[in-house]
Amino acid sequence: MQPIPLRTTVIGSYPFPGWLEFASGHLDQFGADDFAELQDDATSIAIHDQIRAGLDVITDGEQSRLDFNLSFYGHIDGLDREPAPPRRFGPPAHDQRGKHTIVGELSAPRGLGVVEEFARLQRLAPAGPVRKASIPGPYTLSGRLLPNSRYPDRWAVAEGLLPLVREEIRRLVEAGCAEITIDEPSMSCYAHKEDTSRMVDLFNRTAEPAWGRSRLSTHLCFGNYKARAVGPRRYAPMFPDFLRFTVDELHLEMASREFAELECIAEIAKSHDVSVGIVDVKSYYIETPQDVAERVRRCLEFAPAERLSFAPDCGLSQTARWAARRKLANMVEGVHLVRKELGLS
Ligand SMILES: [Zn+2]
Repeated sequence: MQPIPLRTTVIGSYPFPGWLEFASGHLDQFGADDFAELQDDATSIAIHDQIRAGLDVITDGEQSRLDFNLSFYGHIDGLDREPAPPRRFGPPAHDQRGKHTIVGELSAPRGLGVVEEFARLQRLAPAGPVRKASIPGPYTLSGRLLPNSRYPDRWAVAEGLLPLVREEIRRLVEAGCAEITIDEPSMSCYAHKEDTSRMVDLFNRTAEPAWGRSRLSTHLCFGNYKARAVGPRRYAPMFPDFLRFTVDELHLEMASREFAELECIAEIAKSHDVSVGIVDVKSYYIETPQDVAERVRRCLEFAPAERLSFAPDCGLSQTARWAARRKLANMVEGVHLVRKELGLS
């Protein structure tokens, strides 16, 4: 059950300030101390905006995942990290990101960097909100690696990545991380054509080190790179199999889908908490607090307050910061309106 009924939370990422995006193209000009300062400053800003919005749960905004060297693939050995984008021109979308070649055994002897991100968040965040860490699951991570003779298909690549993610989760738990999201949007994007039971098995083996030790959730959206979806936006193909995820909470993208299949949260709430994407990260219509409150009331027709939390549909990294800031503030205000109606404040 939710620690706070109708809790407000986020998916990991937050927009980069303009200067950080600029700096990410000039990282070779920064000294080690300059660079550490830059990461702290960017994270402080993401924390500031989330605290100001009044969220119950915050993240580091993934502000230090600047490029492939600093994101997960930069931490993984056995890769030739020179992805050639298959398409360079035209409208921005997923197919403009190349895939890395596997050239050896997949390993991460120095970890995947999430523990260091969490330590930074611990050091910089004020007391109060819960501090959450996010880590992509092996199935999602496998999508940008090309299979080879040693890892012949996506499942084999995911199996190769599983111990790396699992070990990072174990280290996060050890570091005192009380709340962890395993992001597996590729599972929701491809559930319509892949073996969902196999997905659940892969997920649960990844999550095992956190069972009963940290609050666990997963994020199941339909893709948001450059604010574009990649899967058919339906949850039906995932269930009932995904009810076997060994997590406390499932997060679903609802706002951009005009709350289609909202009734599925009733079934989920029988066994799990459910986090509903209540503001649309792809639209520049800024939901008002009243819009949010109305949506929360609709969710309450299907699931009890103790089971419900609310977040944006996805991470906010693909949304302009001014809009992200307003959406978060209105989301919290709207949820609080309903909390007040129910005498929960
Ligand atoms: Zn997402």
